[in-house]
Amino acid sequence: MSYLRAVLNNNTALEIKHLKNIIKYGNKLGHNTSKYEKELAKIRVKKAAKNTKTTKKVKIQKTKTIKKTTKTKPKTNNLNYTVKNIYTKNNMIIIDFYTNITKKYIDYSIDKTKYSNLYLFDIKGSFKDARPTKLQISGIDRIYIIQKEKNLLHIKVRDKSKLNPIYIVNKKQIIIKFLNIGSNVNSNTTKTTTNSNIINVNRYKRKVVVIDAGHGGKDVGAVGSNKKYEKKVVLAVSKYLYNILKKRGYNVHITRKGDTFIKVRNRTILANKKNADIFLSIHANSIAKSKAHKVKGVETFFLSPARSARAKRVAAKENSSDVRSMSKSTKNSFLTVLNQSKITASNKLAIDVQQNMLYTLQQRYKDTVDGGVREGPFWVLVGAQMPSILIEVGYISHPTEGKRLYKSSYQKLLAKGIANGVDSYFLKNP
Ligand SMILES: [Zn+2]
Repeated sequence: MSYLRAVLNNNTALEIKHLKNIIKYGNKLGHNTSKYEKELAKIRVKKAAKNTKTTKKVKIQKTKTIKKTTKTKPKTNNLNYTVKNIYTKNNMIIIDFYTNITKKYIDYSIDKTKYSNLYLFDIKGSFKDARPTKLQISGIDRIYIIQKEKNLLHIKVRDKSKLNPIYIVNKKQIIIKFLNIGSNVNSNTTKTTTNSNIINVNRYKRKVVVIDAGHGGKDVGAVGSNKKYEKKVVLAVSKYLYNILKKRGYNVHITRKGDTFIKVRNRTILANKKNADIFLSIHANSIAKSKAHKVKGVETFFLSPARSARAKRVAAKENSSDVRSMSKSTKNSFLTVLNQSKITASNKLAIDVQQNMLYTLQQRYKDTVDGGVREGPFWVLVGAQMPSILIEVGYISHPTEGKRLYKSSYQKLLAKGIANGVDSYFLKNP
């Protein structure tokens, strides 16, 4: 029985069991589970109140005292570190505390990369609304608030220009002020009129893409004829894709650059850590010898609770052993809480990637088959908190497609098609 059904049937014990599952595996996957933890605490308070088999009067008193203690306890203990509010005003981020604070409450560092600057503010404190949360100051690319640890808040500010931040600690308040916002706007607009490529670079520079090269190490993936391994093909395609997207101005990360084994959940943990905008898991397909000469083509999957026979077959292959060990009820718990907006975005991303990959391949190989966009329960995608897809770049079991998949020119073509799909997705969903 799923979590939702447990809620509908008012089955508290089951509800608690499912929530525990979601929190336990959510934490392993690097999710923010605070929503479910709160829900669990609420249900437990309710349950405790119900279990007191006494007169009505006593019952009411009990629930009241329980509520009181749970409410006041964290406040009295941590009021020094409790952040009241975080907001922006003009060119400033303002952090309000309940009590007076000192300069020791803030630490500042800057991380410069080729494409942008990351300004990181470590704040000693807990903020109930850090989930992570986005803040906005016009002229700054990105501002994120993340509760890193119990009493450690991260405020991450990312921008291509030098923002020259300063900060002031004043009584119960920290004020971070940016002295230099939007300084490169003018120089960009003059450039964009002369070279249209620069528009694209600036536009997409902010997007973070995590590429997951499927399998690796002892996990060889599918095996084609002459012991050709899936892990080798997908690594090559992933690396080409990495380079193309980087050249186009994306902030790109890859789960492996060599022949190494990585647990399924660690792949999406990377994506969550990097605050990725999209997650692309690259795989290649295979089928039994008797059908090998008949079945070929590219297909793209996105995560959903739907289980068609074909999706089931592919999912069974791609879902690795560390995921298979999850209990059935845990899997059901996850599928029922899948975020519908994430499913929709993943579906859109899958369509753009599939269409562009197919179009690019068919320019040179007219016989490329369209396997279409499909949905299914792919566990490598479950952990990702952003739109995520699994791309099957072809069948290594097919006599001709299998050979092509090992040619670098074909691998580059595949990578180019996928990259075009990513461009197309972000153009429509900025
Ligand atoms: Zn695979």
